[in-house]
Amino acid sequence: VIRYGTSLDRMRSKARNIRFLDQAGVEIGSHTVRHSHTREWSREQWLHSFSDFQRILDLHGLPKPLGFRAPFLEWNEHLYPVMEQYQMTYDTSKTGGGRWPRRAPGTNIWVFGIPSVRIPHRERPALYFDLNMKTLLRRAAEAEGLSEEPDVRRYMNEQYFQAGMRLFNRSYRGNRVPVLISGHGNFRGPIIRIMRQVCNRPQVRCATFREAAEYMNQHPEMEGVRR
Ligand SMILES: [Zn+2]
Repeated sequence: VIRYGTSLDRMRSKARNIRFLDQAGVEIGSHTVRHSHTREWSREQWLHSFSDFQRILDLHGLPKPLGFRAPFLEWNEHLYPVMEQYQMTYDTSKTGGGRWPRRAPGTNIWVFGIPSVRIPHRERPALYFDLNMKTLLRRAAEAEGLSEEPDVRRYMNEQYFQAGMRLFNRSYRGNRVPVLISGHGNFRGPIIRIMRQVCNRPQVRCATFREAAEYMNQHPEMEGVRR
């Protein structure tokens, strides 16, 4: 997203960072160029957005992403045929992590649902999505009577970690649904902590979305499995 690039210099340095990360083996998806509200978009608007994205990639010599997340998670049914047209293989815009990924109807795009999880001081499960967790865990920290840094940050990181471990354990002891960890770069500390805890366990594989989509291509019988 370059809408937040406030100057040409900033955009250039962002492009440099992306090239660096790509060379280091980090997988980077598309989140559109402008981060607009897309809920009501027509197929033409999605097409325009994707061709615009491609234009920016070419301009800066950036790698072509295989995956997508809609801004504000505002996907609609016109998105997926356009993604397919751009040879993408996976989407992470939808909620619902209780079952194995499914293909977007009529396409080969694998949809990895964002799971929900229980957190303290909240009745309903919370979407395990970094910006959402940031807001809700800050509220939880307040409910705990915490107001000072670094106590608040420490509490939030710990709760994010615990929630991630609950998601992992639910899957590991149950239907082995792929556990999504994705966001805007928040909670890096607890994410690394989760990976250190789980990636070496038997029959666990920590993978990028691209690899997970390839796995799904090789195991189509797992599509949509609940248990
Ligand atoms: Zn966003």
